[in-house]
Amino acid sequence: MGRGSHLMLVLILLGVIAGGAAGWAYGPAAGEAVGWLGELFLNALTMLVVPLLVAAVVSGITSLGDPRKLGSLGSWTIIYYLATVGIAVLIGLVMVNLIRPGDGVPTEGLTADPSLAEQGMGVTDVLLSLVAPNIIDAAANTELLPIIVWSILLGVAIAIGRGRTRVIAEFFDGLNDAMLRIVGWVMYLAPLGIFGLVADRLGQAGGGVQFWQSVSAVGLHVVTVLAGLAVHFAVLLLILYWLGGRTWSYLSGMARAVLVALGTASSSATLPLTMQCAREQGVDDRAARFVLPLGSTINMDGTALYEAAAVLFIAQAYGIELGFGGQVLVFVTASLAAIGAAGIPEAGLVTMVVVLKAVGLPLEGVGLLLAVDWLLDRFRTATNVWGDAVGAAVIDRLLSRQANGSPERETARAP
Ligand code: ASP
Repeated sequence: MGRGSHLMLVLILLGVIAGGAAGWAYGPAAGEAVGWLGELFLNALTMLVVPLLVAAVVSGITSLGDPRKLGSLGSWTIIYYLATVGIAVLIGLVMVNLIRPGDGVPTEGLTADPSLAEQGMGVTDVLLSLVAPNIIDAAANTELLPIIVWSILLGVAIAIGRGRTRVIAEFFDGLNDAMLRIVGWVMYLAPLGIFGLVADRLGQAGGGVQFWQSVSAVGLHVVTVLAGLAVHFAVLLLILYWLGGRTWSYLSGMARAVLVALGTASSSATLPLTMQCAREQGVDDRAARFVLPLGSTINMDGTALYEAAAVLFIAQAYGIELGFGGQVLVFVTASLAAIGAAGIPEAGLVTMVVVLKAVGLPLEGVGLLLAVDWLLDRFRTATNVWGDAVGAAVIDRLLSRQANGSPERETARAP
């Protein structure tokens, strides 16, 4: 990582701290004064997401050369996503069983938001969400999953076309480069943007005193989730070392993306930056352009861990003991609910309803989590983005092993 990137990392960190201090001290007034800085930064990142995603996925596939290679790249990617989401849920379940944060938490007077009851996630809902009848409409609403499906189809069609479609492949390759250049410019806004976002959100929570009261009401739940996320973060670091052949320097190279995820609470909005950092870290474009866009919408380790932990917390608060069978059900549904959650703020809270319904817990329980969800969302989003970054390194290594028949290239690159 160059000196400029180091400086940027320090400035972003200062933005988080200063934003926290401003929101803590001035409450809602902080948001009124500097919230616009955060909005400007978020808009600037979000405006890049759709064009960058299309260009990255299409050019990622065309750069594979033979579209049949997409099969093994896709399978390894999905195996990585499922394995790490599974580990995350397991960590969440173990932590809550050990710490038992929900015991004795009062549940009287909670009411359920009626719109939550309509939340469903059947197989047909999932399949329908993959294909949008109007791709422009999906793009206008930043619905990333159908755009990814469309881009994969377009990439494969271009790759099969070879000579006749080469010019389109070059167009998307160039577009990807141009978009990443703009990401570099937008990054200069990051420290102030993150400052504005954090100050605004903490201010909306009523400033320091009110925030502290809401956190301490469910303090053990907050501690359990944060500890679980920290454990998973470390497990991903081990996976990075064993399977990705990289270590601390990769973590510090990706730290700007992880911090921006913390500030924005959106993996999708962070995607441009995640891709930019991965490129700086020398991750093979073919891996980064496929694994990161897909990961930003479906690979949600932090969300999965959170959903499992939160559902068990609610069960404990209501004095309902979920046995082994119930916890297996939580394991499966929390993994699916996390995969189905969009990479936007507090999406996990909505899809969690599916898990609650599956194990028959009262939907009112969500009321216990509302006051602190925005805070935990930031940490789980940072874990989501870190999971994607590790995935890109792992798949990168796999691709280069396949190409070279030996792991030397990456061993040399590992610090
Ligand atoms: N905010 C998370 C993300 O964007 C999703 C969630 O857990 O709510 O990754």
